[in-house]
Amino acid sequence: MSLPPAQIGAPLSEIDTPALIIDLDAFERNIDTMAVAVGKLGVRLRPHAKTHKSPIIAAKQIARGAVGMCCQKVGEAEILVAGGVSDVLVSNEVVGPRKLERLASLARHARISVCVDDSIVVEQLALAAERAGSHIEVLVEIDVGAGRCGVRPGPAAAGLARQVAGSRFLSFGGLQAYHGAAQHLRTPEERRAAIAGAANATTETLRVLKDAGFQCRTIGGAGTGTFELEGASGIWNELQAGSYIFMDADYAKNVADGTRNSSPFEHALFVIATVMSTASGERAVIDAGHKALSNDSGFPAVLGRPDLRYHRPSDEHGLLDFDSAASRLALGDRVTLIPGHCDPTVNLYDWYVGVRGFNTPDARVEALWPIAARGAIT
Ligand code: PLP
Ligand code: MN
Repeated sequence: MSLPPAQIGAPLSEIDTPALIIDLDAFERNIDTMAVAVGKLGVRLRPHAKTHKSPIIAAKQIARGAVGMCCQKVGEAEILVAGGVSDVLVSNEVVGPRKLERLASLARHARISVCVDDSIVVEQLALAAERAGSHIEVLVEIDVGAGRCGVRPGPAAAGLARQVAGSRFLSFGGLQAYHGAAQHLRTPEERRAAIAGAANATTETLRVLKDAGFQCRTIGGAGTGTFELEGASGIWNELQAGSYIFMDADYAKNVADGTRNSSPFEHALFVIATVMSTASGERAVIDAGHKALSNDSGFPAVLGRPDLRYHRPSDEHGLLDFDSAASRLALGDRVTLIPGHCDPTVNLYDWYVGVRGFNTPDARVEALWPIAARGAIT
């Protein structure tokens, strides 16, 4: 693990680059805004730790009312539990005896739940929990339109629920009904239509489950792009949004709901980079390429400088073209980038540098948080 790129109390100018910055004021407002929103909707929040990979941030979300955390990987769950989180849902399919063994032994130390979409896994999970002497709650995942994991809505879910309920070491907790493909649909109308379809699929599955004698404690799903829709549906009762704490340039392209001018969340995650070459006279080369920014969902925006366009990243370099002579950057100048996609960008860094008063002359480093589950991909 690398040394932190800054010291507590340092001004922004002393943070070495590239560095991953949290604007602590905006980040805290985002956590608050979501806590108030789910309170109004009357649903539980189980935020996704795939975004931040940090038990420190998880603790802040739980302190503000979250019932526990989601994560995608057993390795992330292990680090969250070691860091003090006592209730973790792996909102994903976990396959293979080795991983199931790890999950089952983790369930001796915390309340663990997991998603399934296959009877082979239910069988192996029950065996692993029996061997570990632990208990695991299971959500049956249905495909509500994302076309990824999950059984078809309807009777298949009841079949898995019956199998789960047949094990003393497992309990049937409900449904996972996450529509990932809906999150970045750009218009509110498209997102509403997608979640309406997911709601129908979920309602139909709940009817089949009820007829088969199964109650669902949890109907989980939703992300930052659609959580208000699932939350207001009367169907979902546990929301899993993750990116809302940071927001990224991709989410900024979503057109907000008609009742509001913009997203209720603010950009709180940035990468600070330095101009390392201007030798060409036509462009600035900055020290942030693919190893400092995940560009899978589009390039970063340059904060406060719409005249600068990031492009042609290579491993260690990114280019900024100038619109005019006035836009020119000098060697050693710094720019602040809004990452295109927050989650995989976070996974590139060892440290968050938490800055208080980010947009003020008094900006100071207040926190250095390790990205503890960085690279926890098993
Ligand atoms: N729930 C699940 C199962 C996910 O896979 C994700 C993200 O991919 C989320 C919730 C959170 O979505 P977002 O970070 O867009 O809020
Ligand atoms: Mn994402």
